[in-house]
Amino acid sequence: MLKILFFLCLYTASYKGNNVKVAIKELDGFRYINIEPISKLLGGKINYLEKSGRIFWQKGDVSIVLIDGSPWVLLNAKPYNFPLPVRKGDDGVFLSPSMLVPLLSSGFNLTVELGDDSLVVFERKLKIDKVVIDAGHGGRDPGAIGLKKTKEKDVVLKIARIVANELEKAGVNCILTRDKDKFIPLEKRTEIANQNGANLFVSIHLNACRSRKTHGCEVYFLSRARTGWERAVEARENSVIKFEERELGVDLESILWDLAQAEYLSESKELAAYILKSVTKKGNIKSLGVKQANFFVLRGAYMPAVLVEADFISNPKCEKRFKDKGFVRNIALGIAEGIEKFRAEYEKQMNYE
Ligand SMILES: [Zn+2]
Repeated sequence: MLKILFFLCLYTASYKGNNVKVAIKELDGFRYINIEPISKLLGGKINYLEKSGRIFWQKGDVSIVLIDGSPWVLLNAKPYNFPLPVRKGDDGVFLSPSMLVPLLSSGFNLTVELGDDSLVVFERKLKIDKVVIDAGHGGRDPGAIGLKKTKEKDVVLKIARIVANELEKAGVNCILTRDKDKFIPLEKRTEIANQNGANLFVSIHLNACRSRKTHGCEVYFLSRARTGWERAVEARENSVIKFEERELGVDLESILWDLAQAEYLSESKELAAYILKSVTKKGNIKSLGVKQANFFVLRGAYMPAVLVEADFISNPKCEKRFKDKGFVRNIALGIAEGIEKFRAEYEKQMNYE
């Protein structure tokens, strides 16, 4: 049965310099990708242990153990459970994109572009030339609302547009997850970044809390929230899930997402620090520091990713400032400058190693 399926599915792979494009096949209604051409291009090795059904995939000091028919994977001796099992056929070993993408990205340190019918794998870039700017909320999700009815979704869109414009001027290709007042599910936002092979993901938000006096800027990277305050901001930004018409398999997806972002923790933290410094300086905003929380919107990104809480819309003085074009522009210039500074530093480090 399986054999016939493999014959029926056309297999194509083409090589272009330091990347490989592999066609996605459908096996019993699920999407699968052959790892053979990917491993070949990377100079990795795949060994089979026929008796136990074990498959060893190795390159350098990275080792992956797969078991035919099992959703469990050992990455450098650490076990991970995925939604779909590994499938071995006559012409290769097949993994679902949900398993393969994190393994390539976090295990082998590669950049991947997942399309509808193919997967392209690149050796990791030394350049940051594509950035996704994500204006939080939108459409039926207004985000936080000020006393004078200013909506977070409107202000952050203005900021995002200016950030993108500034970065484009500096030669960085920018993608906006939304350029109008439109609802976009959280998951879709990082999907846009992953599918476009972006190098950075920056989500822009405004903060809110009960106290009308609280003000300041904080920049988050993805990790477990440690303080009560971090947990409160996390809960508020994640609450958009209630606007989404779907069930979230949180437990399962969280494993994949944590794996995706673990690789980029230090870069994300560094990016957060650069942005915080520039925004607080340009916007003359108090710094509340770099923080960490488990934001859904950051979890699926296979790249350094941060969430900027520019200032508090719940503070009437801040709300008034958000109506000032110059202030909004300064926040945007600060975010763009922070990204630029991180980019310069990162490229310098990568190229001198
Ligand atoms: Zn928000």
